Amino acid sequence: MEKIVFNPMEIFYDIEAFAGDKNIDLQSEVYSALLQWAPAAEKLVKPRAVIKWCTVKELGDDRVQVAHKIFKSHLLAEKLKGIERVFATVVTAGDELDALELPSDEVRNLLKYAALREARAGVDRYLKDHFSFDHMGRLNPGSLPDWPIANNPALFEIIGDVTETIGVRLTEKNYMQPGYSVSELLFSGDEDYDNCSLCKKYDCLGRKVPFDPEAYEQIFG
Ligand code: SF4
Repeated sequence: MEKIVFNPMEIFYDIEAFAGDKNIDLQSEVYSALLQWAPAAEKLVKPRAVIKWCTVKELGDDRVQVAHKIFKSHLLAEKLKGIERVFATVVTAGDELDALELPSDEVRNLLKYAALREARAGVDRYLKDHFSFDHMGRLNPGSLPDWPIANNPALFEIIGDVTETIGVRLTEKNYMQPGYSVSELLFSGDEDYDNCSLCKKYDCLGRKVPFDPEAYEQIFG
């Protein structure tokens, strides 16, 4: 299957739900600013995504092949055991919101982050509706030391033309530009596994699920 490109994706902000998830005080100035600026941001923002369906081949305890690339990672080898295919994806909030005169960088970054969340949710819905791809697990290069950010170039090569199709490029250190972008492998069947469950950055604002010490011990112990 060729890759599927969404450019641009239409998103709608749900600022109240976003603030609830991110513990943003509903009485704060930041919350008022988010509510005030969300309609203008919604018109301007252009989130984009590219996804590609890839074959998986098990190569032992610490290696796994995805499409034509071999990754060295115990976590990937464990999580992709028995899985024949995954979706490789890159999703970005884009940088269009830089053109908006917002009250602060904090508000700008939160609006970008919320756009990225909505875009990822849109990709998830598409995969569920069109491929019955459910109970999605996510593996992102750089979230865990076992699969560092140095794997981003290989993931980009697997998808192909990521910069040309959705404007996301890698820096010399393999970070993505624009900043509010995410690269990942999505796999079906692991009751919504998320990297955060194995990540020890306890105070991370982006955390989606709590740290799971038992699962960590099982995989890395
Ligand atoms: S806790 Fe934060 S740094 Fe760790 S995987 Fe989750 S989002 Fe990434």
